[in-house]
Amino acid sequence: MSGILEGKRILITGVLMESSIAFHTARLAQEQGAEIILTAFPRPSLTERIAKKLPKPVKVLSLDVSSPEDLAGIAEQVRETLPTLDGIVHSIGFAPQDALGGNFLDTPWESVATAMHVSAYSLKSLTMALLPLMQDGGSVVGLTFDAQYAWPQYDWMGPAKAALESTNRYLARYLGERDIRCNLISAGPIGSMAAKSIPGFGDLADTWNQRSPLKWDLSDPEPAGRGVVALLSDWFPKTTGEIIHVDGGLHAIGA
Ligand code: NAD
Repeated sequence: MSGILEGKRILITGVLMESSIAFHTARLAQEQGAEIILTAFPRPSLTERIAKKLPKPVKVLSLDVSSPEDLAGIAEQVRETLPTLDGIVHSIGFAPQDALGGNFLDTPWESVATAMHVSAYSLKSLTMALLPLMQDGGSVVGLTFDAQYAWPQYDWMGPAKAALESTNRYLARYLGERDIRCNLISAGPIGSMAAKSIPGFGDLADTWNQRSPLKWDLSDPEPAGRGVVALLSDWFPKTTGEIIHVDGGLHAIGA
């Protein structure tokens, strides 16, 4: 039986550890027949080590999404391995420590600016950097943490995710005429490096399972990865500017 990504070429950012949502996305994408290429930050060596655990060998390119030089060179480097792309996965988030963990009222603009640049603006800059490789349309998928709410400890990542969600809608607006779909998966909490860097994030994760209609497993990034793969496939052909929750249903529950 052929997979739902058979014949598709996909660039995946954000593989750092085995706990990364992007690692499971990459694994599932290969299992579903895609040819993939990874980008790595801060060091390709870390990502290369983790990538050895994928079903098939994969090329890893270095990419800091806040570096205009890196972005300017990325399409050419990808082309050496994959001549075109059908999909891009943006699985990137970062905020400095003083923008997280209860410091919201005292965070300086410089730290907020970094969070916005790396976590939100980069969805646009990454997509535009790779646009020359997407001449026949395609799918751009990112990851958010529901920005409708003011979560404990999440602080300036909240406004950064709100900006990411809005950026996704504008990308959908501007890229629809090129047959490029832009969507986000809104994932529940997962115990990745990014989550562990948020002081007290574990407390939030504990309460999740008590409230979500479906049982939620903090240690399982696969459901989010499956959502990303579904959006990369041809099974959401007329969906763009959308946010699909993979959160055990908690977003639908009032109290
Ligand atoms: P992770 O730590 O495994 O991944 C975060 C990635 O961001 C890392 O691979 C890191 O290299 C990358 N990154 C940071 N700064 C970068 C830069 N300047 N240039 C390029 N890449 C950079 O954690 P994760 O949980 O897999 O996070 C992936 C995405 O999922 C993020 O957008 C995150 O906000 C989102 N998300 C996570 C959770 C959660 O609870 N873990 C929930 C919802 C959404």
